[in-house]
Amino acid sequence: MGMMAKAQYQEIARKIRYSTDALIDGKMVRSLSGNTFTSYNPATGVKLTEIASCGAADVDLAVAAARKAFQDGRWSGKTPVQRKEILFKFCGLIRANHDELAVLEALDSGKPIRDTAQIDVAETANCIAWHAEAADKLEDQMTAAGSNIVSMIVREPIGVVGAILPWNFPMMMAGWKLGPILATGNSVVVKPAQLTSLTMLRMAELAMEAGIPEGVLNVVPGSGKNVGEVIALHPDIDLITFTGSTVVGRTLLENSGKSNLKRVLLELGGKNPCVVMPNVADLDTAAEEAAMAAFWNMGENCSANSRIIVHKDIRDRFLEKFIEKTKDWTVGDPLDPQYKLGAIIEKPHMESILKEIAIAGKEGARLVYGGNRILQETGGYFIEPTIFDNVTADMTLAKKEIFGPVVAVMTCGNEEEAVRMANDTEYGLHASIWSDDVHQAHRMARAIRAGTISVNCFSEGDMTTPFGGFKQSGFFSRDKSLWANRQYTELKTIWMTVR
Ligand code: NAP
Ligand code: MG
Repeated sequence: MGMMAKAQYQEIARKIRYSTDALIDGKMVRSLSGNTFTSYNPATGVKLTEIASCGAADVDLAVAAARKAFQDGRWSGKTPVQRKEILFKFCGLIRANHDELAVLEALDSGKPIRDTAQIDVAETANCIAWHAEAADKLEDQMTAAGSNIVSMIVREPIGVVGAILPWNFPMMMAGWKLGPILATGNSVVVKPAQLTSLTMLRMAELAMEAGIPEGVLNVVPGSGKNVGEVIALHPDIDLITFTGSTVVGRTLLENSGKSNLKRVLLELGGKNPCVVMPNVADLDTAAEEAAMAAFWNMGENCSANSRIIVHKDIRDRFLEKFIEKTKDWTVGDPLDPQYKLGAIIEKPHMESILKEIAIAGKEGARLVYGGNRILQETGGYFIEPTIFDNVTADMTLAKKEIFGPVVAVMTCGNEEEAVRMANDTEYGLHASIWSDDVHQAHRMARAIRAGTISVNCFSEGDMTTPFGGFKQSGFFSRDKSLWANRQYTELKTIWMTVR
C-alpha cells in the first residue's frame, strides 16, 4: 500500500468523525449510566473524544443479545458459505475505509501511520478474509468404528464468546479474534482496551453495514474492572479470549473457576530472545532485523526480541552494527510517514518505561544508545530507542517485560549456554535464532521453549501459521491459522448404530 503525504493524513485527521457508542443488539447506543471516558492522542496529550463507558448492565444486555442470536441461528445456523459472503463484505468495507481507519488508529494509539497505513488495516481485513475463506473448507471426521456404526466427530460453534483486547495492535488483535470467532458461527461480546477503542467502534459500524446480523457482534467499551471483569465472571459466556498482560490473564482463569468454567484462551507477554551465533556471515542483516525486532511498534509488541544473546566472538562487531541500524528507527509525529516510531501509549506507561531504564542503569547495565524521553514540546509521550549492553541474568532488564523500546544485550560463550540463557525466562512466546549452520539452527529451534521460533529473520509467521505462547506467555490459545478456528469450536461425538 503506497503512502500519502503528511498533509493528506492531517487533512483526514481534521475531518475524522469518531464512533463513540457501544454496539449492543445491532444498535449503536450510549451506556445505560450515561457515563463516558476520555480518549486522548498520545502524540499530543490532547483529548480526542468521549466514549460510552459501559458497566455490568450494558454487558448483560450485550450477552443476552448474543445468546439470543446464537440460539435462534441467525448466524450460527447459516451455512459457512453464507457467513463467508457477509464477512467478505465486512472486509471490503474495512478496505474501502482504509485511510480513515489508518489515521484513526494512529491518532488513538500513537502508532506511526507508516505502520497503520501499510500493515494494520490491511492485515486486519486479510485476517478476517482468510478465516472467512476457510469456513467452508474445513472437514469433520468419521472414525473406523465398523460398518454398523456411524461414528462422527464434529465441531460446533462454542456459543457466546467474550473477547478482551489490548491496546498495542487494536485493529489487528480484533481481526485475529473476530475472524475465526465469526467464521465458525459464534456470537461475540468484544471489550476493546479503553486506551484504543476507536477503531473497534468504527469497525462495529462497518460490520452492521456489511450485514452481520443484530446481536451477533456486540462491542462494549469500558474499563477492565467494569466490563472486563464482568465478562470474565459472566454465567452466560462460554469462552473468553484474551490478549494482554500475564497479570490480568491470571485473574481471568480465577474468574472462570469462580463462575461457570468458561473456556479461557490467553495470549500474554514475552521476554523474547534473539540469539546470534558466531558463524553468521551476514551480520548486517542480523543487526538490521534485530533492531526491527526490538523497536518496531515502539517495542510495545509481545513478540519483540527484548533480549539479544550474542556470542562473545562477534559481540563487538555485532553491537556496532546494531547501534548503526537502530539509528534508522526515527521517532516523531505518528501522522508523518517519514517516522518509523510514534508515541508511547500513555503517560503512566511512558513513566514505567523510564523507571525501568533508570533501574537498568543502577543495576550496572551499560547504556550504549538512547535512554531518554524526547519531543516533550509536543505534549506527547516519546522515548528514543534504548540499548543496554553488559546485561546479566540477575538484572531486572533480563527478566521483566518492559513493553517499550528498550533492549538488553547479553553475551554467551557457546550454543549450550545460548539455549540455557534463551530459556531462562518465565515466558515462551517467540525467539529468533541467527546461525548459518542449518544443523545448529534446527537443534536450537527445537531446544528453545517458545511458540514461534524464527530462524535467520524476525518473524511471527503469517496467517497460515499459529501464534501463541509456551509457559506464562499463554494458555492454550493459538491465534491465526486453522488452529484459531478450532479453538472457538466444541468437539462433539455422534455415535449412531445402524440396524
Ligand atoms: P492488560 O492491562 O492486561 O489489558 C488488556 C485488556 O484487559 C484491556 O482491555 C484491559 O482493559 C482488560 N482488563 C484489565 N483488567 C481486567 C480485568 N481485571 N478483567 C478483565 N479484563 C481486564 O494489557 P495491556 O497493557 O493492554 O497490553 C499489554 C500486554 O499485552 C503485554 O504484557 C503484552 O505482552 C501483551 N500482549 C500479548 C500479545 C500476544 O499475542 N501474546 C499481543 C499483544 C500484547 P482496560 O485497559 O481498558 O482497563
Ligand atoms: Mg487513545
